[in-house]
Amino acid sequence: MNKIERIQQWLQDNNYDIAYLNDPISVNYFTGYQTDPIERVLGLFVFPNADPFLFVPQLEVEASKKAGWNKEVYGYLDHEDPFKIISKHIMERLDLAPKNWAIEKFSLPVSRMESILVHFPDSQFVGDVSKYMEKTKLIKTPEEIALLQAAGKEADYAFSLGFQAIKEGKTEQEVVAEIEYGLMKKGVMHTSFDTIVQGGANAANPHGGPEKTPLKRDELILFDLGTVHQGYMSDASRTVAFGKPSAKSLEIYKVCLEAQLTAQAAVKPGITAAEIDKIARDIIKKAGYGEYFIHRTGHGIGTSDHEFPSIMEGNDLVLQPGMCFSIEPGIYIPGVAGVRIEDCVAVTETSSLSFTSTSKELTYID
Ligand code: MN
Ligand code: MN
Repeated sequence: MNKIERIQQWLQDNNYDIAYLNDPISVNYFTGYQTDPIERVLGLFVFPNADPFLFVPQLEVEASKKAGWNKEVYGYLDHEDPFKIISKHIMERLDLAPKNWAIEKFSLPVSRMESILVHFPDSQFVGDVSKYMEKTKLIKTPEEIALLQAAGKEADYAFSLGFQAIKEGKTEQEVVAEIEYGLMKKGVMHTSFDTIVQGGANAANPHGGPEKTPLKRDELILFDLGTVHQGYMSDASRTVAFGKPSAKSLEIYKVCLEAQLTAQAAVKPGITAAEIDKIARDIIKKAGYGEYFIHRTGHGIGTSDHEFPSIMEGNDLVLQPGMCFSIEPGIYIPGVAGVRIEDCVAVTETSSLSFTSTSKELTYID
């Protein structure tokens, strides 16, 4: 069964009359069409026993067909009521107005739900496509894993650009600019999130960003970056030494590296997500830095940068071949330094396959 047939089966099994997918990532997953419609209406409408259709702004009709979607595409002009057009095409496919809807509860705006109710007042939003997507995306096919590997290669290239760009006095933001310029020159037009370059104590703020601060010698510099390759994302972190960082910085690097390598080496079918997290966390705790490891060990990756499974305490999900996720322990000591080392991997029949191959041994840049 292909992806569309599988969701049609899910609709049949649950007695849903229709699925409305609005998240561009989900639409891309089923149609191969990647778009950001911003405030305009985008939807993929799937029925248990009728042909699906894609609904896009009129200016995107041709592009969506070119992307490989070979079922119907309908468009609307800015002055038209999109839900009036959508309801007409729904009723071409159904004998009765749809009652049991499956929607993406995580992403569908309430205003769109209200627009559905204008045209189909008896609608009930009983099914959650967001939950379905979490499950269906959990196991990647060999083709998807190949795309994740290709995205990983782009991340490796980005690291090489970033390491070359390090120079005393250059700001973190300038290094980001050089990485992204180099990627774009190679035709990599999208990063999976805003590229992070943080030196010294700024790296101790894991959700912070690159500042106008000039890079200083004798500090660690943290890179966290990713690209989008045909809709599939990479996400990887490396921390490098610029000059001769302090003994404390070198120590936390060593501990973080051991946690990362040991956790990654433990990945295989049959072990749980929580056990992988515990392996990394115990090493950091034992070294006395447990309180400075303030996030889960990893997250799923695929057509989105953060998806299932979460590699964290409490997640007793048993790993299976085809699951893809990050292993990214970090140690962040406020005011001192931050270290994170991250690869994304796929679970294989016996162990795991890493999407990135930039060395994790501490790289010294002079
Ligand atoms: Mn990550
Ligand atoms: Mn990352």
